Amino acid sequence: MPSQTSAESHSFAAPYDAIVIGGSYAGLSGAMQIARSGRPVCIIDSSQPRNRFAAHSHGFFGQDGQGPAQMIAQARADLGRYPNVTFLDARATAAAQEDSGFSVTTEAGETFHAKKLLLAYGVVDILPDLPGLKERWGITALHCPYCHGYEVKGARLGVLSVGPFSPHQALLISDWGPVTYFLNGQPHPDELTLAKLKGRGIKIEKSVVTALEGESPALSGVRLEDGRLIPLDALFLGSRIRFASDIAGQLGCATEEGMQGPLLQTDAFKQTTVPGVYAAGDLTPRVANASMAAADGVFAGVCLHQSLIFGPLDALEKVASD
Ligand SMILES: Cc1cc2nc3c(=O)[nH]c(=O)nc-3n(C[C@H](O)[C@H](O)[C@H](O)COP(=O)(O)OP(=O)(O)OC[C@H]3O[C@@H](n4cnc5c(N)ncnc54)[C@H](O)[C@@H]3O)c2cc1C
Repeated sequence: MPSQTSAESHSFAAPYDAIVIGGSYAGLSGAMQIARSGRPVCIIDSSQPRNRFAAHSHGFFGQDGQGPAQMIAQARADLGRYPNVTFLDARATAAAQEDSGFSVTTEAGETFHAKKLLLAYGVVDILPDLPGLKERWGITALHCPYCHGYEVKGARLGVLSVGPFSPHQALLISDWGPVTYFLNGQPHPDELTLAKLKGRGIKIEKSVVTALEGESPALSGVRLEDGRLIPLDALFLGSRIRFASDIAGQLGCATEEGMQGPLLQTDAFKQTTVPGVYAAGDLTPRVANASMAAADGVFAGVCLHQSLIFGPLDALEKVASD
């Protein structure tokens, strides 16, 4: 089976053992396990990884500081050496259950069939509507100190309150440098939280933030509603998230509410509530960075492959424990 890199050059609709929707950290890691079993696997990807706004990705085993696009290109090149792997540079728009598995249709209207699906299409960050924020996302407006904190260590840091987890973020970020916590119209922290924030030397600004200022993407400070400019080098904030695709919804996979938005429910073997549909990466709970997404994808790929042989793995586990 040839390895393809574009929808145009793809001329057959083989019944794959697995279709992976989303070819980034989770999807490519899962696909690698399936590929190495020798089973035919197709990866459909639209090349919009969540961290594409950042020039460098940090903390990934053996690839610290590498560009996200280069990391993914390397992983694709590794997979491209397996003749049972097919790539489609495309966006999957529909999926449905059928007699012997699933169908997946792309934006171009091509339909492919597989026994199992691995959903790894990630999430999209929804940012507060704040002038100057979008163009600094991943550069000086940051979501995670483990990903980008070291690069701003000791600098003037801010944390924008966006929800109940923001005080926790402010306490955490204060390990990287002096923090100003911007309440920005969010409820005032309770006495205990306030004491903790003060105990970490965190300054609290009550006024609403109206803009991020400086020569973008650099940040020189945040402008407050009362007119003051608070000098800053980086601003941390959490985002809301939404699924990058509604395919899980079309298939009837159940969701649960995470801290930032909806996530796909999976069992201990990474299967969603729809038998035969597996999920990995940021669209599932307890995954927060590229390393975790890759590890999650590996496990999902292994589980998906074994389910082709043994059937549902939770049943297998039950037999083993009897
Ligand atoms: C600004 C920013 C910087 C970050 N920096 C770091 C860092 O330095 N280190 C780190 O470890 N983590 C970092 N992260 C977190 C990291 O980006 C995610 O944890 C990781 O990308 C999740 O991997 P994933 O494979 O689950 O999803 P993604 O990487 O988001 O990949 C999903 C893939 O699916 C594709 N897709 C979506 N919908 C469809 C569809 N319908 N059909 C086909 N394909 C589809 C997308 O195009 C994309 O290629 C950062 C996050 C952000 C927001």
